[in-house]
Order: sequence, then structure tokens, then C-alpha cells
Amino acid sequence: MDYSKQIQDIAAKLFAEGKIDVFVGYRMNGFDDNQVPVVINDPKEVPALVFTEKSVFNLSNYLKADHTRNKRVGLVVKGCDSRSLNLLLTESQVKRDNLYIIGIACEGVVDEKGQKMQNCIECIVPDAVVYDEMLGSPRGKKDYIVNADIAGLAVKGLVERREYFEEIFDNCIRCNACRHSCPLCYCAKCCIDQETATIYNGSNTASSAFHALMTWSLHLAGRCVDCRNCEKACPSHLPRIFCINRTRR
Ligand code: SF4
Ligand code: SF4
Ligand code: SF4
Ligand code: SF4
Repeated sequence: MDYSKQIQDIAAKLFAEGKIDVFVGYRMNGFDDNQVPVVINDPKEVPALVFTEKSVFNLSNYLKADHTRNKRVGLVVKGCDSRSLNLLLTESQVKRDNLYIIGIACEGVVDEKGQKMQNCIECIVPDAVVYDEMLGSPRGKKDYIVNADIAGLAVKGLVERREYFEEIFDNCIRCNACRHSCPLCYCAKCCIDQETATIYNGSNTASSAFHALMTWSLHLAGRCVDCRNCEKACPSHLPRIFCINRTRR
């Protein structure tokens, strides 16, 4: 899966025709073979754009940033990214007329060890669902697979489940990186923000982490698209079992 050249050609054309102000894509990080998101507003930077199975991040998250808000934006979306973009459109957070969307018929992305991501193994809607043009051959919808971790947790009793989550949340440092990396968390004032939410009184205890992450999970229930942007952002490597509430929109 390498659409780098096609994406460079499309972005160059959009800039040349004056159809976009910025382009949101991926570029190499400059020190190994991994990639980072990039927001381009100078056409001279277009040759740096890449897209391969290392293009792991969900770029729809950048539509909530100041440098794209109310601008004409070109961007690349895989299947899961396009579903969060669809929700942002549904929830009136972005205007469809301001977007030029390059959809990917996605073959899956890999982690830093080159292993296919678990959400990609379980992905049931790999093709972009909203786009202006599609790259790749659509693969269609696949049968739903219950996540093995969730299936294992579902058969446990309530006390065991609580203990399981307490152990996980004990490692949370309340940095909010997960919430900031989630495209579907765009509230100007977030109710789980440790610094501003009066409910926590600035505390960073295990119980406040438990409360905040469970609240966060509920705010994503039925909306989470299983892109794992939050998992990639977490410095404590918390497993995302508590936020896998997949939607197939
Ligand atoms: S979850 Fe699906 S659409 Fe998203 S990167 Fe993986 S295979 Fe592609
Ligand atoms: S909660 Fe995580 S996996 Fe779900 S949409 Fe947000 S960033 Fe993606
Ligand atoms: S956790 Fe809830 S309140 Fe905070 S940004 Fe996300 S949806 Fe909004
Ligand atoms: S990114 Fe990880 S450590 Fe930071 S608040 Fe989220 S779960 Fe906790």
C-alpha cells in the first residue's frame, strides 16, 4: 500500500487550482522509517507527503485545530478515519464544502515492529465511507469479530472487572494525551480535564483516573471508530479495552 505519488499529485493540483488553503497528510519523521502527521500550507512542501502502511494516525483529529478550522482543507482518510470524519460532519464540527477528501481503500497499518495493528485485523469497514476520490480497490464490508480482550472480560464477574480496570487505571498519569488525540473529543471545556474540572479539585489519584477514564469511555460509546489514535498517544501504554465502542457509520 503506497499511495505517496498519487497523493502528492492530487495535493499539488488542489493548491495550483486554488481549491485548498491547507493539506493534512503524512511525512517521514526524519530519523527512522516511521511517519508523523503534517499540515502543509506551502505547495513547496507537497513532495514530502507520503502514504504507506506506516500512515497510522487518524488525520481527522487535525480538523479541530485552529490552523484548519474554517479553512479549505485537503486531507487523507483511511476507513476508520473517514468514519470519525463522518461523525464530525454529522455533529456539525466541520463543513463538507470546505473539505477535499482523499479516501483510502485501506489494507491495514502496522505498528513500530511491523506487525499489523489489532484494530486492523478486526476492522470491518476498511474502505473510506466519505471521499471526493478513492485510492485503491474497495474491499467491502467484513464480518464483525468480537475483540478477544472484550470477550474475555465479558465473562468475568463485576468484582473481577472492577479489579481489572483499577489495575489498568493505576498507571494513568492524567496527561489527557488520549483525549487530545481523539478526533471525537472536541469540547472547548472538557469535563474530565484535571486542571479545569472542579469535580477533581486538581487531584491525580487512582480513583480520579478511574472516574475520568470511565467518563471518557462513556462519552465515546457508540462514537468511537477504533482508530487507536488514543492508544498511540498514551505514554503509559494503557490498553484501549475501555474505549472500544465501535461504530460502523
Ligand atoms: S482500522 Fe481498518 S481502516 Fe483503520 S487503519 Fe486499520 S484496516 Fe485501515
Ligand atoms: S477513543 Fe480512541 S480509538 Fe476511539 S475514536 Fe477516539 S482516538 Fe479513536
Ligand atoms: S471527554 Fe467528554 S467532555 Fe471531554 S472532550 Fe471528550 S466528549 Fe468532550
Ligand atoms: S494518555 Fe494514557 S496516561 Fe494520559 S490520560 Fe490518557 S490513559 Fe492516562
